[in-house]
Amino acid sequence: MSQKSRSTPSKVQKDETPIDADIPDNYVSYTLKNTKPLPPVTWSNLLNEINWLSTAILIVPPLVGLIGASYVKLRWETLVWSVLYYFLTGLGITAGYHRLWAHRAYNASLPLQYALALFGAGALQGSIKWWSRGHRAHHRYTDTDLDPYNAHKGFWYSHLGWMLIKPRRKPGVADVSDLSKNPVVKWQHKHYLSLILTMGFILPSVVAWLGWNDARGGFVYAGVLRLVFVHHSTFCVNSLAHWLGETPFDDKHTPRDHMVTAFVTIGEGYHNFHHQFPMDYRNAIKWYQYDPTKWLIWFMSRLGLASHLKVFPDNEVRKGQLTMQLKRLRETQEKLTWPSDSNDLPVISWDSFQEQSLKRPLILISGFIHDVSSFVEEHPGGAHLLIKFIGKDATTAFFGGVYDHSNAAHNLLAMKRVGVLHGGHPHGLDDKLIPPAQRLKIARYNELGSAYGSSTAYSESEEGFADKN
Ligand SMILES: [Zn+2]
Ligand SMILES: [Zn+2]
Repeated sequence: MSQKSRSTPSKVQKDETPIDADIPDNYVSYTLKNTKPLPPVTWSNLLNEINWLSTAILIVPPLVGLIGASYVKLRWETLVWSVLYYFLTGLGITAGYHRLWAHRAYNASLPLQYALALFGAGALQGSIKWWSRGHRAHHRYTDTDLDPYNAHKGFWYSHLGWMLIKPRRKPGVADVSDLSKNPVVKWQHKHYLSLILTMGFILPSVVAWLGWNDARGGFVYAGVLRLVFVHHSTFCVNSLAHWLGETPFDDKHTPRDHMVTAFVTIGEGYHNFHHQFPMDYRNAIKWYQYDPTKWLIWFMSRLGLASHLKVFPDNEVRKGQLTMQLKRLRETQEKLTWPSDSNDLPVISWDSFQEQSLKRPLILISGFIHDVSSFVEEHPGGAHLLIKFIGKDATTAFFGGVYDHSNAAHNLLAMKRVGVLHGGHPHGLDDKLIPPAQRLKIARYNELGSAYGSSTAYSESEEGFADKN
């Protein structure tokens, strides 16, 4: 809908040159800085700022549908047909407008293209070209003012507000020159008005009329009310899918994955994945996730009607997932208290260690001096074993000589560090020096060069390398 209000670039694109061929390198910041948005909508300018055509298309069907439903009884045949037609027209948008034309996620044969263009017209969401142009801008400028349905402007703005009010800014430039050359896209654009009347209202009524003599039911339920459902189903991709759910692949922008969104959008609910891998013909990558659009495309490829189904390399998909998992683990890691490493501790001479051990219970293990005063009475093996080692090196005893302590004991011991013995670590960089909980730590790339123990991620086999630090 509202083709007129945002179709200026199509004029420029007649010559099939990509419209974004000559944009400045800093296009986004340049445009935001140098083009003025329209003034904010207030009560005084409201009537002038309303996009009346879109508003009518969004408000009249629910009203007509509700009034119609109170006069026309719903027959089960009509109900089945309405649900089926909801899926057909919805798939025209998801498999056609969205994945085929806006994203080129696969190639479709001409018969399939015509079918998708026809059913897509029955969803009354503007022509393929207009829709894809806006959607490509949405992907390119996600969450900025150049995104036509910028989710940062709120749930209802991204759901339908952006269509009710004239846009404050033109959406950012997005090339659709490939679509300008497509005969099916051109055909649909040219006959758009007659197609929406035929596919939106006449066909659903005629099928119910010829099938079970319920033309009025066909119009009200499979035509008008079905249209309302398809509209809000698509709108949920811009609102709900940017608001509800998880970010398993990236959390830089608003898109999210959620099963509920998938159910109400015919499988477009794995939107976090989709914004990361927009040319992938799938939204859901797991077999048990609900993505009928993907199933249809796959089925069409089996029939020979679709080909070149694009799939992002699994290796790259898993990198995104791993990054997000590490990010969450890092948050857990940062909430914990960690022992001081040797850089943060005072270096203490042997004589000073001896001297101070007379005043408090200090024990040397793996080159670190530990103050065990808070632990003497709680030591599971008995206080006497600790007292025996005050002022002495208990490394051998701790690591199996007397008792091979648990990982938890080693982690706890490290928390009691108060100094490093001058002369370095007698046992070198080995398991005894680094508590088990710190052998695999999550480190940012710029922390990798820092001193051992504080942040470097060690794996069991990397200790030779770590030695150089
Ligand atoms: Zn999106
Ligand atoms: Zn998309």
